[in-house]
Amino acid sequence: MPEPASAEPVLRVVDFSKKYEGKPAVDHLTFDIAAGEILGLVGPNGAGKTTTLRTIAGILPIKEGNIRIFGFDIDRDEVEAKKYLAWVPDDPQPFDTLTVYEHLEFYAALHKVQNWQQRAEELLTRFELQEKRDALGGELSRGMRQKLSFCCAWLPKPKIVLLDEPLTGLDPRGIRSAKQSIVELASEGTAVILSSHLLDLVAELAHRILILNRGRRIFAGTIAEARATIAVRADATLEEIFMTATENAGDSAAGTSAAASPPPKIE
Ligand code: ATP
Repeated sequence: MPEPASAEPVLRVVDFSKKYEGKPAVDHLTFDIAAGEILGLVGPNGAGKTTTLRTIAGILPIKEGNIRIFGFDIDRDEVEAKKYLAWVPDDPQPFDTLTVYEHLEFYAALHKVQNWQQRAEELLTRFELQEKRDALGGELSRGMRQKLSFCCAWLPKPKIVLLDEPLTGLDPRGIRSAKQSIVELASEGTAVILSSHLLDLVAELAHRILILNRGRRIFAGTIAEARATIAVRADATLEEIFMTATENAGDSAAGTSAAASPPPKIE
């Protein structure tokens, strides 16, 4: 795995819980992420990954726990906290009536990006959207919407990026561009949370992994630490680690026995 660019704290999530109709979706989750770090967020379906990302992004309200970006509380100091953040959702929905280029214009205005045009051109070229620059959002294919979402997120050079299954729908060239741009952004100091079921992708890009199961953190650390901590072979792949970790915790609902036992030594 690559080394992170620096160890500056960017995001701190402390004791965050979220319930839907009384049922826990995320349960007392604590973690943080440093500048230049790529954190792989993995877990079975329903583990609470999207709920966590949507709350950090300010889309879902936070009622229990505390989330800070550069020390700004995402609830109380929402504007300051969000200034540094970009978000690529798992199913981006561009504005139907704006063209691709107008989306970039809009994001530049929203984030007050000066001299954004050259960067916009570079991003459109990198993500092969030049031919679609005048196409309306509603006319884009699934993969093109994903590429546009990357372009909009990357435009303001965010300090923290949340990626929820970012490669879904991308063609092979798009996948390569996305992977390269994630690594580049991190090497420039951006903190990246990469949530994905593509464990090879996570193993390739992430400096650390955070495994959730039924809303609870069951592991956070490097893959080397996971190999040492979770009872699997010394050369275990992330897939094998994932299977073992989630199998052991899989029989308990959040808040019950295995989930209540202390997680393996972390961080
Ligand atoms: P996946 O890998 O399938 O995308 P996930 O880890 O992102 O899953 P979440 O989408 O965060 O999981 O869901 C966590 C839990 O919260 C699940 O039990 C899910 O059914 C529940 N949940 C999510 N959204 C809602 C909602 N709007 N209303 C009720 N329950 C919800």
